[in-house]
Amino acid sequence: VQGIASVSMFFMLLHILQTDAAERSELDHDLRTALRDEQFVLYFQPQLDRARRVVGAEVLIRWRHPQRGLVPPAEFIDHAEKTGLIIPIGQWVLQQTCAQLRAWKAEPALADIGLAVNISQNQFRQATFVTDVLAMIGEHGIEARRLELELTETLIVQDIEDLTRKMTALVQQGVRFSLDDFGTGFSSLSHLKRLPLSTLKIDRSFICDVLTDASSETIVRTVIALGQSMGMTVIAEGIETEAQLRFLASNGCGQFQGYLFSRPVPLAEFVEFVRRCNLPRAEEATVGTP
Ligand code: C2E
Ligand code: MG
Ligand code: MG
Ligand code: MG
Repeated sequence: VQGIASVSMFFMLLHILQTDAAERSELDHDLRTALRDEQFVLYFQPQLDRARRVVGAEVLIRWRHPQRGLVPPAEFIDHAEKTGLIIPIGQWVLQQTCAQLRAWKAEPALADIGLAVNISQNQFRQATFVTDVLAMIGEHGIEARRLELELTETLIVQDIEDLTRKMTALVQQGVRFSLDDFGTGFSSLSHLKRLPLSTLKIDRSFICDVLTDASSETIVRTVIALGQSMGMTVIAEGIETEAQLRFLASNGCGQFQGYLFSRPVPLAEFVEFVRRCNLPRAEEATVGTP
């Protein structure tokens, strides 16, 4: 009986593995089609300063799947990372972002907006990464400082030499770097000191319970102080309430991103949002000033 049970268990497992593999290769095929048919689309989530003016946006990819509708990145980025498809996808995101920045150059209300792009490990590890990015900036004739590249801690703990060299080469041309999801990984203070980062992004997981969890509160205060002392901009992501915003602002956080202001939205909505937020004002009302 036991033998039969384990044999059927074996076939069950085999079936699961096969289905999984089939689903994965289907996803693979669909992602290639998506690239070819331009089914990807960029959404923009505003980033505001202490005066509640929009200073930039994070560019977030979405997949307009013909059957499944709008697919969030959580459902395909990891897979694309494993198969290497993230490289052409990431290239496409950068191209589109540079094209967007070029289009905004001619519009006074948008000319100062910066865009932050998420860069995957695989993409950054490409030997041609630096020259590719600089070529795109050159082709579109944009100011390098409008482009910010978001790296994660997983990426920065690997091969520090290569990392420093690539970052420095881009920073010398004006490109900025931020450290995304800060606090969730294992980067050390010596990394922070050594790398030419201009921005720290405090991870959403700390922001969501900053008012209810004493250790999150301490972490957030500490990260803000750390960033300030190193001359970096500190941005909080995932702000959903005015109370969270007040806490962050009164502790010196410089920039803010979250559903409180806007979800990631399509281009036209983002432009509308900027025009509304950045209207000329009689007096500067800053957030959280006592
Ligand atoms: P991330 O870079 O940490 O982006 C922030 C995520 O938090 C976004 O999810 C955003 O919609 C979400 N978010 C922002 N504010 C709030 C808030 O107030 N509340 C809540 N609950 N969520 C908020 P999204 O767009 O689903 O992206 C998820 C992740 O996918 C990103 O995390 C990033 O790691 C990755 N990703 C997105 N676009 C790209 C891309 O073009 N390339 C690469 N390599 N990764 C990307
Ligand atoms: Mg990000
Ligand atoms: Mg993040
Ligand atoms: Mg995150």
